[in-house]
Amino acid sequence: MNKKVILVIMDGSGYDAATSQCGYLEGAVELGQARRWKMITATPSLSGPMYESIHTGLWPHEHGIVSNEGMRASTSANIFSVARAAGKTTAAVAQEYFHKLYVDRPWDRLRSVEHSDPDTDIQHARFYSMEGYGPVNAMAPAEIDLCAQVTILAETHQPDYLLLHSCAADTLGHTFGGDSAEYRWQVWMIDNALSRAIPTWRDLGYEVIVTADHGMNAEKHHGGMEKIMREVPFYYFGEAESLPEDGKELSQLGIAATVLRRLEVTPADTMRPALF
Ligand SMILES: [Zn+2]
Repeated sequence: MNKKVILVIMDGSGYDAATSQCGYLEGAVELGQARRWKMITATPSLSGPMYESIHTGLWPHEHGIVSNEGMRASTSANIFSVARAAGKTTAAVAQEYFHKLYVDRPWDRLRSVEHSDPDTDIQHARFYSMEGYGPVNAMAPAEIDLCAQVTILAETHQPDYLLLHSCAADTLGHTFGGDSAEYRWQVWMIDNALSRAIPTWRDLGYEVIVTADHGMNAEKHHGGMEKIMREVPFYYFGEAESLPEDGKELSQLGIAATVLRRLEVTPADTMRPALF
């Protein structure tokens, strides 16, 4: 059977925040519908570098994107490029950084939010800019609207690999801190949206992975070595066998090869080994 994967990146949602607030995801684990492990990110634990590490299985020092200020098109084999080269269809609902990394075309402020081009590594997408992001207005899309766009892309294009990148928990963490009610509420809001989306996506034939790029500390920051910055959750809804034992700490660098293996595509030699 042709396997398809949706990867959800809950930007800035650390392990403790997710496991304490995500009642749907944790309930699925308790019921045996999903598995969950603690995952350790690469460093520096920043968004752009981690997006690329998740997709290439490489440390930032290796793929070269070590800061958000250094964002550019990916030059390493990544989930999108390897899947596309194998004849798979790729799609994403994600912030503009992903356009820069995996579309590699000029960002057209009035047109690029909707993307469909089979010759780019992300072939079908709905991007959002967050233009004007700040403490007064977070400019973050509603979690359920992002899930709706994923569902529409899944039903329209049947992509084999579909990325959902949600930004709002990170935004509120930067505004209010990782120990704030506002941040924890937003992490729960992602869970609340996924509680309706994941059963639908499973019915559409997708395995679903939910993780985060990094966590968030009480000082509204991430990027360093603190556990609260580097510990993120990794949830798996799917049929894979020989899964890691409960309690094992997983490496974020294993995500790329894992997703490709689930798609029955051979991972790039440069990627760290698959988690399962
Ligand atoms: Zn981030």
